[in-house]
Amino acid sequence: MSLVAEQEESDELKEFRASARAFLASHFKAVPTVGISGTTLGDTDTSKEAEDRHVEESRAHQKILADNGWAGITWPTEYGGRGLTTKHQRVWAQEQSKFLVTTGFFSVAIQMVGPTIMAHGTPEQKEYFLPRILCGEHIWCQLFSEPGAGSDLAGLTTRAELDGEEYIINGQKVWNSGAHFADFGILLARTDFDVPKHKGISYFLADMHAPGIEVRPLMQITGFSHFNETFMTDVRIPAAHLLGGLNNGWAVAHTTLSFERSMIGGGGTGLGFKALLALAREFNVTNDACTRQELAKCYTRFELLRMLGLRARANAKKGIAGAESSVMKLAVSNRVQADGDFVLAMQGPRAMLHYDDAQDGGMWQNLFLNQWSIRIGGGTEQVQRNIISERVLGLPSDIRTDKTAPFRDLPKN
Ligand SMILES: Cc1cc2nc3c(=O)[nH]c(=O)nc-3n(C[C@H](O)[C@H](O)[C@H](O)COP(=O)(O)OP(=O)(O)OC[C@H]3O[C@@H](n4cnc5c(N)ncnc54)[C@H](O)[C@@H]3O)c2cc1C
Repeated sequence: MSLVAEQEESDELKEFRASARAFLASHFKAVPTVGISGTTLGDTDTSKEAEDRHVEESRAHQKILADNGWAGITWPTEYGGRGLTTKHQRVWAQEQSKFLVTTGFFSVAIQMVGPTIMAHGTPEQKEYFLPRILCGEHIWCQLFSEPGAGSDLAGLTTRAELDGEEYIINGQKVWNSGAHFADFGILLARTDFDVPKHKGISYFLADMHAPGIEVRPLMQITGFSHFNETFMTDVRIPAAHLLGGLNNGWAVAHTTLSFERSMIGGGGTGLGFKALLALAREFNVTNDACTRQELAKCYTRFELLRMLGLRARANAKKGIAGAESSVMKLAVSNRVQADGDFVLAMQGPRAMLHYDDAQDGGMWQNLFLNQWSIRIGGGTEQVQRNIISERVLGLPSDIRTDKTAPFRDLPKN
């Protein structure tokens, strides 16, 4: 299907859009400013109380969506979803962005955890976890990265040892977004130190309220404590919460990471071109030749990303599995970097202000500062480039000495 044909919305999609909009309008307030929803950039209250309120509101909103059949647009109907396509998901996201629906705390669960459980879970795991994700009961976090294992995730040293019907977990994780309010976490731990590093990892569904889990928030430059260090001391996880089989965690993690890259690549910052144009008008810089040129580049980037998205979807439909999620993630990284610089440049000296003194309560400064979340989280730009060079361009990979030796014998980070 050509890109042009794909852009034309079918009658069925138009109908879907209209019913999504009608539902949203009858349950949620409209967003007051163009295109700023779906992000926390507009919020500058960094207090714990504000965050707690936000989490509770998010749970309530998720429940409203679930009760009315709008949660999990692409989830199969057997798991409580609508069983619709990614096109429907995109239309839904476009409509939802016009309303104050704060369901962002569920994005890890709905876009990463749920699909991974569907792909690798036992019938019991699916039956227990999936409905609780959709209805807003369980918020999830990701417990993958460690102080010595980020880009080289397979170098992780958190260990899991079987003791009867339970695994005992010891180790430390870091950069765990939302772990301080999560109910469950997807956890990678080493179950065999005597095999090569990718082969001795298992994937667990960990109860974040279990004894022995200590979550310590880390404060970011924006003043928010979005992510955490997580310490695990003799934490007991039922063997029934092992996902995808013993020592098969690397394959399961790949499923999650690919969903994560698609989520980040498909989401961007939530800010549309119109919002940037409105800022340029507000600062009266639209007659400036350099600004006009930057605006044109900015618009081009938005369009290229949109088209890249169409190509990824068209390929996915044909069953062509490429490295699109890495390409998309890299393109979004480039965009947020350029947009971050541009929105501050437009403001001149006023760009130095923050919080209430700044334009829109410091939202643009947050946009600038948040760019590194997108550029690093879910795999850095350099790592995405490695994936693209090897899997798309067919270039030779680095010489690796760590693929065959037992993990125990490798030098540790
Ligand atoms: C906002 C945010 C949210 C996050 N949320 C989570 C979360 O919820 N759960 C979780 O588990 N983790 C999370 N992370 C962690 C994230 O996955 C890691 O930060 C990321 O994988 C990079 O690892 P690192 O920070 O250890 O950097 P390192 O791996 O130490 O990399 C340092 C630098 O070296 C470069 N580099 C490393 N290896 C190579 C290579 N082979 N080739 C070229 N360059 C290389 C990197 O690109 C980078 O510039 C989050 C990170 C951010 C920023």
